Amino acid sequence: MEDQTIRVELTNSKKEKPDENHLEFGRVFTDHMFIMDYAEPIGWHDARIVPYQPLVIDPSSMIFHYGQSVFEGLKGYRTETGDIQLFRPEKNFQRLNHSNDRLVIPQIDEEFVLEGIKELVAIDRDWVPHTEGTSIYIRPFIISTEPYLGVSPSKHFKFIVIMSPVGSYYKEGINPVKIAVENQYVRAVKGGTGEAKTGGNYASSLKAQEIVEKEGYSQVLWLDGMERKYIEEVGAMNVFFKINGEVVTPQLNGSILAGVTRDSVIQLLKYWDVPVSERRVSMQELYEAHQNGTLEEAFGSGTAAVISPIGELRWNGEHLVINNGEIGELSQKLYDTITAIQYGKVEDPFDWIEKVNLKSKVNL
Ligand SMILES: *Cc1c(COP(=O)(O)O)cnc(C)c1O
Repeated sequence: MEDQTIRVELTNSKKEKPDENHLEFGRVFTDHMFIMDYAEPIGWHDARIVPYQPLVIDPSSMIFHYGQSVFEGLKGYRTETGDIQLFRPEKNFQRLNHSNDRLVIPQIDEEFVLEGIKELVAIDRDWVPHTEGTSIYIRPFIISTEPYLGVSPSKHFKFIVIMSPVGSYYKEGINPVKIAVENQYVRAVKGGTGEAKTGGNYASSLKAQEIVEKEGYSQVLWLDGMERKYIEEVGAMNVFFKINGEVVTPQLNGSILAGVTRDSVIQLLKYWDVPVSERRVSMQELYEAHQNGTLEEAFGSGTAAVISPIGELRWNGEHLVINNGEIGELSQKLYDTITAIQYGKVEDPFDWIEKVNLKSKVNL
């Protein structure tokens, strides 16, 4: 971007903040948002931080019809000393550009946008909760805004960042969830948009999710779209299994989303000298490992929950109970270590933490 300035317009009516002990995910939003526009041939321009407000968008905007959009999700964490820090944010903006490429959305300037987000967090710093396990959820997204019903890539976009204070994912402790293996619907196929973070993937996953929820399961385990044999993801998380001392996770095959948490888990396991491999994992292999007692742990990974242990898998009428339905030792250690790094409670040997300078250039 040529013009690297961010215009700031502060609110003159600050909202009341929610009770930190009863925060829901993604229901209330902070006082400000970051926004910038794209138009051909200017490119991205008019970056600004303004009061959180509704958008005025033409009903013919392409986003409403053909879903050309991408998003990201990351968190800001309050440390014991009152600082605020982000976890590997550069990975999110690399991934956003990767998603942009797939959805034919123009590339963003990753460093500039990260600076904008830090500025936004600094301005809305009082919204970052202090209670144990809470954080500020940061949601960057891009929508196509050209008013045109023709099917082609939009020539206008908006990049927006909104933020929401969120509570601890595990208020009542970490309870492993029951998962149903999905044999009918698929989340994504190789060649499709599964490796991009785009709303359409979520829209197409709702049906299967709704069905299994009624049957008492929290999420589905997605299988590959071609053969319905190989494991892909669990809900909107990446998935790991510990089989006979080795941790395995499906390799990035073109339909799996490359999670930042997934990458962090792999790096930590290597650091601890725990055998870890990225490869194809079939449901049959998992079933056999369960039968011979070597399926030791299973968990999902993602920004929201960090680690989400799986206590039971339903597959073709069988109920595979994993580790007596309790969280495994390694799953717990991964959860404890990643969250300790995020909240600045332990050293960060990987340089994952990015501090927010709270002395914002803006005076409140
Ligand atoms: C966002 C997402 C993940 C998790 O990614 P993180 O960067 O770890 O939060 C996994 N799968 C899907 C489909 C996702 O959209």
